[in-house]
Amino acid sequence: MNLNQSRETLVRTAREFYEKGWMLGTSGNLSIRVSESPLQFLITASGLDKGSLQASDILLMGENSQLMESAQLKPSAETSIHEGVYRKLGPGAVYHVHSVSAALITQLYEDKTNVSFTGLEMIKGLDIWDTSAVVDVPILENLPSIPDLASEIVRGADRSVPGVLIRRHGLYAWGANPFEAKRHVEIFEYLFQYNIGLAKLR
Ligand SMILES: [Zn+2]
Repeated sequence: MNLNQSRETLVRTAREFYEKGWMLGTSGNLSIRVSESPLQFLITASGLDKGSLQASDILLMGENSQLMESAQLKPSAETSIHEGVYRKLGPGAVYHVHSVSAALITQLYEDKTNVSFTGLEMIKGLDIWDTSAVVDVPILENLPSIPDLASEIVRGADRSVPGVLIRRHGLYAWGANPFEAKRHVEIFEYLFQYNIGLAKLR
């Protein structure tokens, strides 16, 4: 995938997530890695409506949150979090959404540091083929300083599950490529909505 294709993928994915209600009010940020060494990635600009981004609203970033091209726009405030996840786990894309269910499930498990899923067919969408496996999604605290939050997310992120929740804030998910990262966001959303729906029935 070349730079232009990656920009278009981010524009399209942001619009789809916006339409699902996962990136309302300019929230969330999406990135795709374009170079491993030195690390470079494209990320959505800060403060724009995620339902109507243009290719020019996607910014090329280098190491230490350095903007690699002249632009009037500012990169996402959470750029350093994406960089931290790329450095630790080396995924091809990192997607962050502010969905209601991602925030709500962390409140449902207010006193827990993770939420577990098991026995559901959709777990396979996380590349976990044994449906009796227990999938533990970490719930990290929503620290007010971005550098602190970045450290917390990098600490909590590992290879056992491709995502982490931030309490009353949202979901970070990643994948080997943009297609996989999008699938992981969708699967997590399904699991969160399923669990919230089940709690209502009880
Ligand atoms: Zn956020």
